[in-house]
Amino acid sequence: MSGKKKLIILLGPPGAGKGTQAKKISREFDLVHISTGDILRNEVRDGTELGSKVKEIMNAGDLVPDELVGEIVRSCIEKHSSAAGFILDGYPRNVTQAEFLMCIADGWPVYAVCIRVEEETLVKRLTGRRYCPGCGKIYNVYFSPPSTEGICDACGTELVQRRDDREEVIAERLRVYHEQTRPVIDYFSSLGRYFEIDGSKSVPHVAQALSELVGVIEK
Ligand code: AMP
Repeated sequence: MSGKKKLIILLGPPGAGKGTQAKKISREFDLVHISTGDILRNEVRDGTELGSKVKEIMNAGDLVPDELVGEIVRSCIEKHSSAAGFILDGYPRNVTQAEFLMCIADGWPVYAVCIRVEEETLVKRLTGRRYCPGCGKIYNVYFSPPSTEGICDACGTELVQRRDDREEVIAERLRVYHEQTRPVIDYFSSLGRYFEIDGSKSVPHVAQALSELVGVIEK
């Protein structure tokens, strides 16, 4: 792949706000947003061959095989060959994926930013999360409810809960995070490419901190 592109990776446990923040940063810095979770959910929703392969794994809160997600990321990056850079959310999820990404991003500047949040807050964010299957808008029944319960303010569609945001699945997702994804922090740390921000504050506060950090990284 030719040309130097910036690659920003958002790390952090499920519920840290990676998706919300990645959307904001991608608009602000003109980066292509790649969310492997969103892409996989769309495959499941559309009933594709890939979707049927990954559906049960995702519903159980476990990780989809590295080769499948690696291919998704590689083809997304290839598809946007003229982009200034990328912001990845949900990838890499383990050290094998991190190594694969560093191979794809041969020589590009790569930065990993972890959004840190206490576990208690995460569980509330995840169990309260609802999304609109119509327009993709995200709500939280505790922190940012829609004006009419269960209905999207933007397009009037009925809101739904992600199957993996049920309490029993959340425990498994957090276990997988601690076991497999936390070592990714050490990986980028040892490369001198690791940063952290406090993700416990409100969405605009976290967005401000992240924007300042990415602004500094840009220079
Ligand atoms: P997310 O929306 O990032 O929380 O991802 C939802 C689910 O999609 C995860 O629990 C995994 O089952 C799957 N998934 C997303 N990204 C990856 C990845 N990089 N590696 C493996 N599985 C993934």
